[in-house]
Amino acid sequence: PASEAVPEAVEHDTEPPHRSLKIAILSRKSSLYSTRRLKEAGEQRGHRVQVIDYLRCYMNITSHRPTVVYSGRELNDVDAVIPRIGASHTFYGTAVVRQFEMMGIFTANESQAITRSRDKLRCLQLLSRDGIGLPVSGCAHSTKDIDGLIDIVGGAPLVVKIVEGTQGVGVILAETRKAAEAVIEAFRGVEANILVQEFIQEAAGSDVRCLVVGGKVVAAMMRTARAGEFRSNLHRGGSAEKVKITPEERTTAVRAAKSMGLRVAGVDILRSRHGPVVMEVNSSPGLEGIENATELDVATKIIRFVEKHVDTSDSKDRIK
Ligand code: ADP
Ligand code: GLU
Repeated sequence: PASEAVPEAVEHDTEPPHRSLKIAILSRKSSLYSTRRLKEAGEQRGHRVQVIDYLRCYMNITSHRPTVVYSGRELNDVDAVIPRIGASHTFYGTAVVRQFEMMGIFTANESQAITRSRDKLRCLQLLSRDGIGLPVSGCAHSTKDIDGLIDIVGGAPLVVKIVEGTQGVGVILAETRKAAEAVIEAFRGVEANILVQEFIQEAAGSDVRCLVVGGKVVAAMMRTARAGEFRSNLHRGGSAEKVKITPEERTTAVRAAKSMGLRVAGVDILRSRHGPVVMEVNSSPGLEGIENATELDVATKIIRFVEKHVDTSDSKDRIK
């Protein structure tokens, strides 16, 4: 008789509902798309979700019982945090995440991994150590050996990037050796750390953003630069659509996230002649572009990942 009693509304979902959690989203603003979606998705799954402006938190780091205080209240009943730390507040933001780690609270990304991901050069070094495909890259601060630096990447055309840049700012395509020399020379004048990179021309202004959650690619989109632009950043007028990725791209994205120690990551891949090369790994990937392009509920996938791992002690064990 039980087999006939299955109501139509039953979800095709094998997992039992999770106990209700107290989840803190560390974000400057609850109106930001990704923050809003994570809150919605968490509440839909029966959790209590609070958006915490991490810049307004203060911490007691001296006591035997570390605490975070927000709006005059100790945050001592949090089960899990989801950090959405902005690039311009990495230092204080990751300190707050670390304080939660000290309290033994599970975090969707660890503070150290967030810090690591904010440094393009360090990213490339870690990825390279793990044998992940990268554009051929060189790095310099104030070398006079501009020729040598250009030769590393096989000459022009090449891409010059400021190590500290985000959203495509400070990413320049130098089409000739002369142009490359001038750009590198200019950056030397302002004492910037620069990356010089082989230009992956065959990517034709497109890159693939893979959203990795808990060691799996849960969504992927292709971003394409607008006409006359080689940078595909959506902030630079690029457009996005869903894309089917190859098994090699899938493996590359998962390995890149793992190499950075990120549980939630946006991995940007260029399709080069030699296969997928990783350009960047982002620890607070935006959800708006990818959810719209793929029509997938990425926010819920992140919440479910948190549910699955909140009761394990690996957050405590892994702090160094
Ligand atoms: P940011 O972190 O500022 O977004 P990226 O390094 O991701 O900077 O570069 C911005 C965009 O420029 C990329 O999304 C990609 O479309 C393009 N791009 C960057 N590096 C290369 C490269 N080596 N070859 C081809 N295109 C590149
Ligand atoms: N021990 C960590 C690692 O090897 C930290 C290194 C780093 O973040 O640069 O991944």
